[in-house]
Amino acid sequence: MKLAVVGAGWAGLSAALTAWRLGHQVHVFESAPTLGGRARAVHAPTLDATIDNGQHILLGAYTATLALMRELGLDVNTLFHRLPLTVHSADGTLRLRAGRALPAPLHIAAALLAARGLRWPEKLAALRAVAALRGQGWRTPPGCTVQRWLERAQQPPRLCNLLWGPLCIATLNTPVEHACAQLFAHVLRDSLGAPDRSASDMLIPRCDLTALWPARVARLAAEAGASGDPGHASPTLEIRHPYTVRRLRHVSACGLALDDLPDRYDAVVVCANTPSTARLLATLPDCPGSTQFLADLDAFEHAPIATLTFQLAAPMHLPQPMLLLHEHRTRNHFGQWLFQGQDQEKRLLHVVVSDADALLAQERNAAVAGVVEQLREQLAMPMPEVSRHALIVEKRATFLARPGLRRPGNRTPWRGVWVAGDWTDTGYPAVLEGAVRSGRDAVLALTAAHETAVPRQEM
Ligand SMILES: Cc1cc2nc3c(=O)[nH]c(=O)nc-3n(C[C@H](O)[C@H](O)[C@H](O)COP(=O)(O)OP(=O)(O)OC[C@H]3O[C@@H](n4cnc5c(N)ncnc54)[C@H](O)[C@@H]3O)c2cc1C
Repeated sequence: MKLAVVGAGWAGLSAALTAWRLGHQVHVFESAPTLGGRARAVHAPTLDATIDNGQHILLGAYTATLALMRELGLDVNTLFHRLPLTVHSADGTLRLRAGRALPAPLHIAAALLAARGLRWPEKLAALRAVAALRGQGWRTPPGCTVQRWLERAQQPPRLCNLLWGPLCIATLNTPVEHACAQLFAHVLRDSLGAPDRSASDMLIPRCDLTALWPARVARLAAEAGASGDPGHASPTLEIRHPYTVRRLRHVSACGLALDDLPDRYDAVVVCANTPSTARLLATLPDCPGSTQFLADLDAFEHAPIATLTFQLAAPMHLPQPMLLLHEHRTRNHFGQWLFQGQDQEKRLLHVVVSDADALLAQERNAAVAGVVEQLREQLAMPMPEVSRHALIVEKRATFLARPGLRRPGNRTPWRGVWVAGDWTDTGYPAVLEGAVRSGRDAVLALTAAHETAVPRQEM
């Protein structure tokens, strides 16, 4: 088969790799100069450094992503800093860490019981909530928000503020009052509730996100191109970027083309975010189901994530690579998580602000000053002077994970056109693992559909 993949984020690259391994001819088109989409390296001119567009963490439960990286010959043990599930606050008032001694899920129960900064009724309430969720097969009532679930599970308000709220914002980028409890339950099921203890591990990249594996795919494509023997029909993997696809066309009974380009494809997988996907699909003629499909894409709302990177005048070693910050928006203390940077000199700190509209509504200098003040107040150690900073805002970082959101599968109503991305019906919120799985699954599904269709056409 000959396949076009639009978008080289983690979904698009996962689709491209899956297709290439299946022996298809693959052309990838990407608008941006850098591969990786919403998880990519950027140059920050104010710091004169390459940093990520936003700090990302992966979980041990990200099995498809880790398998893909291993298949690429990458050593995931060296590429990530792997921590057992750890929630330590910067001020030292909360300390929760899963041990390595007990099997799952006892390691989580033990971590909660031993946690410092939680009161006994809070620890027991948290345990009861997770046990009840497990007993219900990790199902929550239809339409239930995380807030409603917390109320039904009688979680004390202090526990919600200290633990559940920050975990919900970190995983769904949606505040508890709007967040879908079922998606949150899926994340808990596959991390805390998994039979394998390592599923709840937290993986913090040691290199930038483009270098992590997208750059390896680019190298593979370059090698595939360089070794291309015109007489030998080896599978093609070509990545064309920067190139923005503006139009899809049906060109024959079973062929598709992009813009005015000469290539003909058996299938196109659009792996862009929902607004770009909708724009591209709308260039195709209407067909049964197409109006509803576009309306579903239009119903997605998005939330920003801001990342403030501080360059310090002297090195600073955090006690943990990742620390929880207590957020007080009225004081411009917007920071939620603090990360040690990947730089060897330990002069970079990254502060993550999910659901960042409140920060963006502030005058920039006031917001930055507020977060610096927050760090000085909450860090249980002195912080050197901040010499420079960079603020990176991803306005459409993730879709708002509200209950009842209709998320399409990989198939579209248009012949030969498929979609993938973190927003498709992955069962997860907008996360890397969902993106990788959706790209893989789209290609497996379209290949199966093609294989059943071809014999019929040949009859
Ligand atoms: C700041 C931030 C922090 C995050 N933190 C985490 C985290 O800690 N853990 C986690 O699991 N997830 C996290 N996420 C979510 C994660 O980054 C996304 O779920 C994932 O990157 C989405 O991948 P994707 O391939 O579905 O989409 P995208 O990454 O958006 O890829 C789509 C690609 O398509 C390209 N494109 C669009 N239109 C066209 C066109 N017409 N022609 C050609 N190319 C086109 C775009 O340029 C883009 O590269 C975070 C996201 C952000 C922004």
